[in-house]
Parts: sequence; C-alpha cells; structure tokens
Amino acid sequence: LSKGIRRLVPKTKNSGGRMKVFISAILFVMMAITLSCSHTAKQPMMKKYTKFKLTSDLSHLTPNQKKMIPLLIDAAKEMDEVFWMQAYGDKESLLKSIQDPDKRKFAEVNYGPWDRLDGLKPFVVGIGVKPKGARFYPADIKKEEIEKSKNKDLKSLYTVVKRVKGELKAVPYHVEYKKQHLAAAAKIEQAAKLAKDRGLRRYLRLRAKALRNDKYKRSDMAWMDMKRNAIDFVVGPIETYEDQLFGYKAAHEAYVLIKDVEWSKRLTRYAALLPGLQKGLPVPAKYKREKPGRKSDLNAYDVVFYAGDCNAGAKTIAINLPNDEDVQLKKGSRRLQLKNAMKAKFEKILVPISKELIAEDQRKHITFDAFFGNTMFHEVAHGLGIKKTVNGKGKVRTALKEHSSAIEEGKADILGLYLVSELVKNGEYKADMKDHYVTFMAGIFRSVRFGSSSSHGKANLIRFNFFKEKGAFSRDESTGHYRVNYDQMEAAMTELSQKILKIQGDGNYESAKSLVQTMGVMRPQLTKDLARVNRAGIPVDIIFEQGTTVLGL
Ligand SMILES: [Zn+2]
Repeated sequence: LSKGIRRLVPKTKNSGGRMKVFISAILFVMMAITLSCSHTAKQPMMKKYTKFKLTSDLSHLTPNQKKMIPLLIDAAKEMDEVFWMQAYGDKESLLKSIQDPDKRKFAEVNYGPWDRLDGLKPFVVGIGVKPKGARFYPADIKKEEIEKSKNKDLKSLYTVVKRVKGELKAVPYHVEYKKQHLAAAAKIEQAAKLAKDRGLRRYLRLRAKALRNDKYKRSDMAWMDMKRNAIDFVVGPIETYEDQLFGYKAAHEAYVLIKDVEWSKRLTRYAALLPGLQKGLPVPAKYKREKPGRKSDLNAYDVVFYAGDCNAGAKTIAINLPNDEDVQLKKGSRRLQLKNAMKAKFEKILVPISKELIAEDQRKHITFDAFFGNTMFHEVAHGLGIKKTVNGKGKVRTALKEHSSAIEEGKADILGLYLVSELVKNGEYKADMKDHYVTFMAGIFRSVRFGSSSSHGKANLIRFNFFKEKGAFSRDESTGHYRVNYDQMEAAMTELSQKILKIQGDGNYESAKSLVQTMGVMRPQLTKDLARVNRAGIPVDIIFEQGTTVLGL
C-alpha cells in the first residue's frame, strides 16, 4: 500500500472521479495511521538539529576573490538540486505534501522523507523504506541484474541506471542532469575569470568542462596541483555513500571553502613527519613496512557553503579527496579540515554532552584545540599502517570485506590519538594530553549517538567497550559521570592500536568480525546514559545558516 500511494499521488492532477474516491479512501487510512502514531511524535523533529552560522574572516580577500564566492555558491546550489533527485526524486511535490512546517523543514534537512540520523526511518506517512540504491537505479532493481550484466557503464560512478523497454540502460549524469550541470559549469567559468591564482583558474576551468562530459580525472589532477589558492571549491559527483546497494554511484555535493593559511602551514609540518611516525608505530616491522604517501597535503578551511550530499543529515567536518585512485597514486590526496564546522559541533554538541556525562573536575580538559587536534590527526592516521596484507591476502579492504570500513575508521581514531601523544612526547606538538584524552572520551559519546549502523558509530562503540574493559575510564554510580583514568587510557590506546593494526595486516576477517559483533554494540548502561543526553535536549547534529547574506557579501 505504501508504495502505491507514492505512485498515485502525482496522477490525481489529471484523473477522474473514481480515482479521487480511491485517493480519499487512502487518505482516510493515512489519517487513521497518523492518529494512532501521534503519541510518538510530540517533540519537534527539528530538535535533533541546532543552527550555526557559517562565516569566515574574509578581510584578507581581494575584491575579485570576494566576487567569486557568490558565483561558487550559485554553482553549489545546482548540486543541491541534483542531490534531491538522487536521494528522493521530486523535491517540490514532497515538500508541498507535508503540512506541518516542522516536519517539512525536517524533510529539507534530510533531502527526503527518511531520517538520516535514525537509520533512515521514514517520517512521512505512506512512504515506505528508502530504496537501498536511492534513485540511482530503478526502484525494482535486483542486485543480480547489475552484477550479471555485461554493460560496464551500469557500474559507472557517473551514470543513472534506467529500465528502458525491459532493458537496463546507463544514462550519463551530464545527460540526466544536463540543466544543472550546464548552469553550474557556467557559474564556475565566470568565477574562473576572476581567479588570479593560476592553479585555481585552471582547476575551475577543467572542473566546469568535466561537468559537461563527466570526465573528472584531469580536474582532479589540477585540484591536487593547486597549492597557493585562498579559495577552494569542491564540486560535482563525489562520494558513494548514498548508493547503499553497491556503492557504485557518486552523489552530487559542493563545499565553498576559505583556506586558513596559518593553520595550513602547521598541518603541512605534521604531514612531513608521517614517515617517521609510521616507523614508530607499536607493532612488529612487517605491519609498518609501507611508506605513507608524502605527497598528500593537509589544510584547514572555513566552509562558507555546504550543498547536496555533504549537507544531508550529519555534517562532514573533515574530507579526504580525491577518491580517484589513479589520481591518488600520482598526486597523493588532500585532507581538508573544516574548522568552523568543527567549532559548531564542539560548542553546540560536545560541550553540552560533557556537562551531562563527564566528571565535573575533568570538564576543564574539554577544549576546542584538543577536539580539532583529535579530528585532524584522525585524518593523518588514515595514511598510517598498511593497505596490503602481510600474508598474501591482497588488499586489507578486500580481506576484511564488510567490516573493513568500521575497522579502518577505528584505526584512524585510535592512531590519531596515539600520534598526538607521540608528537607531544617528542616536543613537536604542544598540548596537555589530559585535554586530548578527556576530549576524546567526550567525542566517543558524541559519535555513538549516530548509532551502530554507521562505520563511525561501530568504531566508537568498539572503542568504548574496549576502554571499559581496560579500565581507561570509570563511571561514578551516584552521578552517572565518566572519569578518564589517564595511565590506563594510555595503555589501552596503545593496545587497541596494536590490535587493529594486526587485524588489518593479517587481513584477519574472523577477528574483525568478532570485534565488530561482540564490541561494536551498545550495552544497556550506555543506552541509559545517552537517553539522559537526549532528555537534556542536546541536538544530534547541526544545520547551517549560510549564503551571501550571512557572509555580508
Ligand atoms: Zn575517517
């Protein structure tokens, strides 16, 4: 029935009386369902999110650079349109069908009628489960159809799969989303004309061209080649998370970014230390024999506009691009730390959570610098360890199969913390490790709220349970507050780093599976403590007030 309603609604525009009777019958059933469910929906849905203004210091920008920003924002808005089509379909008809303004806003934030912070639960009556392949494939697609097909284009990152007269057909993005691609390309070219930095100008031109033919490689190369630009623009079909059927299809998104020059300089220094840090990892030599890429660069930015995929549900605070493995091999990759977005999560979520869950006298150790550091070194740590197993099982990613990303995220988290402690020990980084440990602990509470369905959520649960076993923290029964035990924390950090690096190096699927299944779970005590956080009305994520007006442009 639920699927039927979705298909019937648009038809009412030109259908006769009989159809209308049928529709009213369905509406009656829908109302009945709404009434019977209404007791569960008392709180405003938007309470899950809190607002944050996306601004940045633009005073160092030239007049031309300031003129570029609105053009890039316009191009970004086109990505927003495309992402709606990929995630749901017709945006306007969905929003019009929702009467309650709170729920309508919630649908906007989620780019569709499924709650992205709650396992994609539908929140509009009559809407069924979200198709795993979103709108990248026909709704009735079977996995085997794609797998068996000889048409390689069906698996392309940049095509939509359609059924035409019973046959599966791959339609390139630049054809399917022609209007939006062309509009974005035109804006990007206008911006390119204003760009003084040669690298940026070249990248923008190539990116515009790529949107016209879906050949992104050259623009990705050009993006890696540009180093001195003050403005950056990530745009196009990029990440594949939205395609939960295969992970083949890239979803559209955009970030308009202002580089934080001073922080970026500091980060470059740490990236240069990577090879030495790899040698110091606490595992036998065979697990650290690969050389971490030195070509990669690491920069801090303020984001001034999010659009599409990255703006849906939980907001990204660090990116690692490009995804094209050829480009990565030739040019390395770039890690972008989104400082103002991190600050938003820190102030609006992490600090309030710690007031509920962290021992009072340790709360002074929750600092933005430590939060920024932990997040930054998470990204650095992805480059450490090994990508190939040590025993001929091929790539780590292939050997660990469906558990590979939870293990990889867990590695980056714990090795990130380990890196901070190493750099502090050898005087490269000035910080109080207590700040980093306590902030890290509070960070776990923030991340497990995303649930055990995501790789990040699983990784955090594993760590929480591992830390608990090792006494890295203790919980005060009377207050329900958690206290970090610094010495045990340090030992547990090293031990978990070793455990994960070995699982990856050995390509040990069984160990990975048992770690995820036994430790990657939410136990009753934690569930109760998180319920306290929810009762305190602490939002799960942020939405942005953004655009030219907010920026004063
Ligand atoms: Zn990561």
